[in-house]
Amino acid sequence: AKEKGENNYQFFSSDMKSTLLTKIQLEKDLRQAIANEEFVLHYQPQIHTRTGEVIGMETLIRWEMSDGNTISPGKFIPLAEETRLILQIDEWVLYNACRQAKAWHEDGHPHLKLAVNLSPLQFLHDNLMVTLQNVLEKTGFPASLLELEITEGVAVFDVEKAISRMQELRELGVQIAIDDFGIGYSSLIYLKRFPINHLKIAQPFIQDMATDPDDMALVEAMISIAHSLGMSVIAEGVETNEQLAFLENLDCNEVQGYLFSQPLTVEAFTEMLAKEKLQ
Ligand code: C2E
Ligand code: CA
Ligand code: CA
Repeated sequence: AKEKGENNYQFFSSDMKSTLLTKIQLEKDLRQAIANEEFVLHYQPQIHTRTGEVIGMETLIRWEMSDGNTISPGKFIPLAEETRLILQIDEWVLYNACRQAKAWHEDGHPHLKLAVNLSPLQFLHDNLMVTLQNVLEKTGFPASLLELEITEGVAVFDVEKAISRMQELRELGVQIAIDDFGIGYSSLIYLKRFPINHLKIAQPFIQDMATDPDDMALVEAMISIAHSLGMSVIAEGVETNEQLAFLENLDCNEVQGYLFSQPLTVEAFTEMLAKEKLQ
């Protein structure tokens, strides 16, 4: 094995056999983690660009292993998708995030919007609408403040199915954001046909926009296309005041990134909300 991560898994092994063993072990651990609920949710504030107000948060999952190690989603979501375990994980996230957000609503922040990432598998799953209805009913969280983040990848296999699912979600009153817009599978034809509310510009464009005129031009074009299609735009990965100033100038509606806050634990997010209220 060439490399070891912060945990004991060898993700970039050149040795195929050990890679396979690692994968099998990881899958086993992942099943255990689901059974034992070893996941925690962090929340990253989403900020209204003009007012600077916290208007919502994105839910980001972490795996806290029993040995104290934390594994980031980039390391287990791909395998969870491959093994379809993501279906159980996404459902767990939906329920727990809605329950937490409902608690913040009742704690004096009734307008907070909750963003949850959904894998393409969950997004297209036959049971999604029933699952969502159950979650909303059980938690009392309003559909109108739930925003599902999906990637353009949902349309790769069956565009018509993806569009009809978006319509169903719309009828339920849930909002949809296209995540990581601009990288991967992009087609403006589909964008025009997607009944969605928000476009989330992928991090790499934001990170280079202040130094690369091409990225700046692309960000400007993406914002203007989104606005002319009646969508609002959120920029993610905002790390500098310079980037923020550009985005404000381009009328980007919302911003999210380390400049404002890292993803926070429930306790830290609650504390941040309390401080915000005093100002
Ligand atoms: P994403 O949805 O694009 O999430 C944004 C990622 O960028 C997060 O990484 C976040 O912590 C990180 N980030 C936020 N602000 C900044 C910044 O200013 N600079 C930089 N460099 N990074 C920033 P994270 O939490 O490791 O999540 C990685 C990916 O895992 C997510 O990408 C998402 O695709 C997936 N993911 C996370 N939580 C869930 C979940 O509950 N369900 C599913 N299906 N996928 C999830
Ligand atoms: Ca996301
Ligand atoms: Ca993203």
